[in-house]
Amino acid sequence: MSLAKPLEGKVGIVTGVANKRSIAFGIAKAWHAAGAKLIFNYQGERLKDGVIKLVKESFGEDTPVCALDVSDDQSIADFFSFVAQHTDRVDMLLHAIAFAPKAPGTLEGHFSDIPRDAFNLSLQISAYSLIALARGVAPLMTNGGSITALTYYASQKVVPNYNLMAVSKSALETCSKYLAFDLGRRENPIRVNCISAGPVQTLAARGVSGFTGMFKVYEEKSPLQRSCTLEELGATATYLASDGAASVTGQVIYVDGGYEIVGM
Ligand code: NAP
Repeated sequence: MSLAKPLEGKVGIVTGVANKRSIAFGIAKAWHAAGAKLIFNYQGERLKDGVIKLVKESFGEDTPVCALDVSDDQSIADFFSFVAQHTDRVDMLLHAIAFAPKAPGTLEGHFSDIPRDAFNLSLQISAYSLIALARGVAPLMTNGGSITALTYYASQKVVPNYNLMAVSKSALETCSKYLAFDLGRRENPIRVNCISAGPVQTLAARGVSGFTGMFKVYEEKSPLQRSCTLEELGATATYLASDGAASVTGQVIYVDGGYEIVGM
């Protein structure tokens, strides 16, 4: 492994790019700079043209991009058929997908108001999708592999308004641990880890009521007096995908200015 290009020769799947502010885009830039070849998805017609343009301009005209809606099994199957047409091996996959529908209690208001269908949809898209993508990519990880998912601290402690997304992140983290145990025992082991990012201004984050006020809390309370940057998330994701993390699996790594250790 070259220290300058720790992902040289590796092939990665990046999910969850919506625009250049997306955490997935920051991580893709880091993986690309580290020498990886990348394959991307876009979610739905609304994002299609913007994501394709951004990806081709940033990573080259021949970078593969394909539709993937993780709430649809056929879309997942079609996506992995597309991937298999472009590479015979995948080394890493980034899961940077989350969704909670607007409904009473989901991202503001009373947690006790959350409707059943909103709960099911959020858990399915934000957490079950990790299982579905892991199952889809596993046959392509013929030389072992690394799966990294993005989570948030509200899975562990109450953060006002995170409500339904907090439950989805708890499920996501637990799924990642059980997948780490399951897929780590294959002949070609797959490692599964989470990065718990501090607040970052993105499309998804703006859906959480009072989100912008969180930066002030991180400035006041975290040891480093700030949250994190896309570059720092990219560097951590590069480490996790690299051979340097060959014995690291089932972990949640906090990239949050140290906020996670603070009691009050
Ligand atoms: P983002 O740019 O809005 O990315 C979220 C992505 O998930 C979007 O591309 C979104 O597409 C996609 N998505 C939603 N439903 C999908 C589906 N059914 N199938 C496929 N893709 C779907 O926001 P982000 O903040 O970078 O989010 C990336 C990850 O980081 C998420 O898991 C988020 O919870 C996590 N995270 C974010 C923060 C933060 O402060 N921003 C902190 C910790 C963790 P649409 O736009 O079409 O819905």
